[in-house]
Amino acid sequence: MSHFSLQARWVLPIERPPIAGGVVSIAGGIISAVGDRPSGDGPLYDLGNVVLMPALVNTHTHLEFSQLDKPLGRPGMPLPEWIRLVIANRQGAKQNRDDDILSGLHESLRHGVTTIGDITSKAASRPVPQPAPQLISFQEAIGFSAARVDSALTDIRQRIKSSHPPAALSPHAPYTVHPKLLERLVDLACKQQMPIAMHLAESPEELELLASASGPFRELLLERSMWDDRAIPLGTKPIDYLKSLARAPRSLAIHGNYFSAEEIEFLAARRERMSVVYCPRTHAYFEHSLYPLEQMLAAGVRVALGTDSRASNPDLNLLNEMRFVANRYSGIPSSRILAMGTLAGAQALGLEEKIGSLEPGKWADLVAVACDAECQEPEAAILHDSTVTAKTWLRGLLQ
Ligand SMILES: [Zn+2]
Repeated sequence: MSHFSLQARWVLPIERPPIAGGVVSIAGGIISAVGDRPSGDGPLYDLGNVVLMPALVNTHTHLEFSQLDKPLGRPGMPLPEWIRLVIANRQGAKQNRDDDILSGLHESLRHGVTTIGDITSKAASRPVPQPAPQLISFQEAIGFSAARVDSALTDIRQRIKSSHPPAALSPHAPYTVHPKLLERLVDLACKQQMPIAMHLAESPEELELLASASGPFRELLLERSMWDDRAIPLGTKPIDYLKSLARAPRSLAIHGNYFSAEEIEFLAARRERMSVVYCPRTHAYFEHSLYPLEQMLAAGVRVALGTDSRASNPDLNLLNEMRFVANRYSGIPSSRILAMGTLAGAQALGLEEKIGSLEPGKWADLVAVACDAECQEPEAAILHDSTVTAKTWLRGLLQ
């Protein structure tokens, strides 16, 4: 097994303060020590003027759209209209989307992302060629009418069996998933100890559907012969879905653009098992009202970051998401934003024992970001300077 150490202008362990001239020692793809001098045998490589930190976690995306050149539709368009474009894109797509997934994996790795929470609408037809980022493959379930619950569940069970990366579950959204189907999927997540992710509180049109069984999503479902008058009781709110998701070992509420104070409090009280995934530039693409990020962080909600897909975002670069947050929320400390793109994502996916910070025993998944020779504030420099991802290591191997 190979032993070596990497020295950098700054090392950012994430759970501890930055170390000037820090050293990360690696043995057999695992971090063996983090400090100010090498530990153990093997050569010491000086990386020069870089900030060395844990590789990034893209907690939410849909890699099957990775070959799109630009987002679908136009900025500020209502979500139900955009969903129509997504459906048309999927129907026009080739049967096998492995190439799209591969393209997304390569793009992610180039940007220092080594773990991805991916939503997939079908099981992969072959294993992902290695080396590649670690993929947590959330199998998407759709079934809005009561009549569709059993068949949607059967389909999901099949896909879990044939899933090559570790499987997880994704009841798509309240406007596509019957509450009973959600309950059955949460049962399955509990039984198989899998994480479960659901798009939730994403748009005003979703809240309208839940509150009064009316609006553009009702129209869309009627048009597609998916509507069920009795699926959603009048007066339903996102918290009703959160209460179901709270039973799972790990659950991820994707977006949460319109969470109420009550919902934020509910999530904060369950932060060890429940996370929110904020997709900053996708949120901006739809021109939603201001994201309740400061309220969530102040309440203690665990917030991870995702790019969402290239159908609503220009790229899969998580560093760009963190920079977007830093620009928009000047009151949030840089260290907090960096933790959202690393450790919070690891915790959301149930992988905090392996990735997300530089600690002995964790995987040597690392990224080096260029910095100035005089850099005194490495966390701010990563988020505010126009530095680039210099190098990525996957289990100790330079990519
Ligand atoms: Zn999504």
